[in-house]
Amino acid sequence: MSSPQQVDHLVVGAGFAGLAAAIKLDEAGERDFVVVEKDSDVGGTWHVNTYPGAECDVPSQLYSYSFALNPDWSKVYSPQEEIWAYARRVAEESGTLDRFVFDTAVRDARWDDEAQRWIVRTQGPSGEKEYAARTLIAGSGGLSEPRLPEIEGIEGFRGEIFHSARWNHDVDLTGKRVAVIGTGASAIQLVPELQQVVGHLDVYQRTPNWIIPRNERSFTGLEKSVFQRVPGAQRALRALVYATLESRAPAFTRFPQLMRAVELQGRKNIAKGIKDPELRAKVTPDYRAGCKRILISNKWYPALAADNVDLVTDPITTITGDAIVTADGVERPIDVLVVATGFYVTEPPIAQHITGREGRTLADVWDVGGMAAYKGTTIHGFPNLFQIVGPNTALGHSSMIFIIESQVRYVVEAAKAMRREGLTAVEPTQAAQDAWTAEIRRRMRPTVWQTGGCASWYLDKFGNNTTLWPGQTFTFRKHLAAFDIDRYDVRVSHHREAVHA
Ligand code: NAP
Repeated sequence: MSSPQQVDHLVVGAGFAGLAAAIKLDEAGERDFVVVEKDSDVGGTWHVNTYPGAECDVPSQLYSYSFALNPDWSKVYSPQEEIWAYARRVAEESGTLDRFVFDTAVRDARWDDEAQRWIVRTQGPSGEKEYAARTLIAGSGGLSEPRLPEIEGIEGFRGEIFHSARWNHDVDLTGKRVAVIGTGASAIQLVPELQQVVGHLDVYQRTPNWIIPRNERSFTGLEKSVFQRVPGAQRALRALVYATLESRAPAFTRFPQLMRAVELQGRKNIAKGIKDPELRAKVTPDYRAGCKRILISNKWYPALAADNVDLVTDPITTITGDAIVTADGVERPIDVLVVATGFYVTEPPIAQHITGREGRTLADVWDVGGMAAYKGTTIHGFPNLFQIVGPNTALGHSSMIFIIESQVRYVVEAAKAMRREGLTAVEPTQAAQDAWTAEIRRRMRPTVWQTGGCASWYLDKFGNNTTLWPGQTFTFRKHLAAFDIDRYDVRVSHHREAVHA
């Protein structure tokens, strides 16, 4: 292999995180970067998730970059292709696409302490390539690696099978017998679409979710032209959406009993969509709303109540060549199996491929105590690694793009500080990271995620919520407003010369 390409910054992933990092680095004059993306275009999850009915459940006025408002959103909650087209347009207009490399996966990244660089091996259409990068900015997302269910016999299924995030559009579902495993955010969007075309649909539910009505509507031509001509009006609407969503945070983080109001809405939604008392009982959760992600849909319950749909709640025991068998012994034949079973969140596979200063992978380090990072972004033992949407940065109540922009600002401030001070490496001290993690754990205790009486993918194998931010988003932003170098070990040459904190 030829010698590594030297770059200042290597960004992994061209989703909303990687794209924001590219744009903001460029604006700050940090122009020597490469964005490596395993898929064929920008957009991340909004490029990959093409299942029928895929839409965002956060209003687009807020689920968009603050620096690239879009006056043309068609609806309050935009569909996937519109969000993807938005990301594509922002990327094109930013003038950074010349530094994006598509269809290229990161195989591994190793910190070279001698060179003070990340050595990153990639695999693309023209083979393997190596980069030597000053910083590694991981924007590969928490919801990018599909989790397939471990069910006996699933490998022997002879029909078509695919994950919601890897939709196979070549399979015509018209008139077929289809099963969907899972009833999460993806399933509740795709099931109502499938119900309209398939012959019969079995929906396998392990745990019901709280689902409240979706306040849908399209923007009128007049509204769009006002947004176009008076950006201040759109900013005001965005601020209103932000404030409305933000006002819900305390119910998640400090006063879970307030979730009774959501449960009332959820029960009404069930009563409106389903007449059969038995089916109503099956879909009614027995835990506090908010413990698992609160979902929004007007179509889910009517779809379950349709004549060609069965909601199966008996646990699946085996999958045969052409059927699903449940614990009650019933065998339901199917042609196509859709698994909408979520993603690897608390044990992200990319962590197995990142090796830090002491020769240990991020997966090994996190295996001992769970995911942890200083301010959700930097990690002791992994100099110059910045993780966007890292541990405890995800949200249940607002737009992840707000968090992404907060983190990107921090990364850019770090890059500027490194250049200004002539630093080759920055690494949060163990003490700083431990104090941050302890505070997160303390704040997590009264939250609905820990007290609500459910099992959720927010929690890791130790029972800790290492996924969500336990507070207001503006507090998160304030924490990351400046690069607090006094919490970092820094190096100005091959040898550690200055230690802070
Ligand atoms: P998910 O919320 O993790 O749901 C997975 C579903 O599969 C759950 O119902 C789960 O049941 C079930 N399941 C998993 N393994 C199973 C097994 N072995 N047997 C039976 N059932 C099994 O995944 P998702 O629906 O893909 O959503 C993931 C996240 O993506 C969401 O929370 C959200 O953050 C994001 N998302 C967002 C949007 C949006 O509109 N913005 C849309 C889709 C997804 P249990 O509940 O019992 O575990």
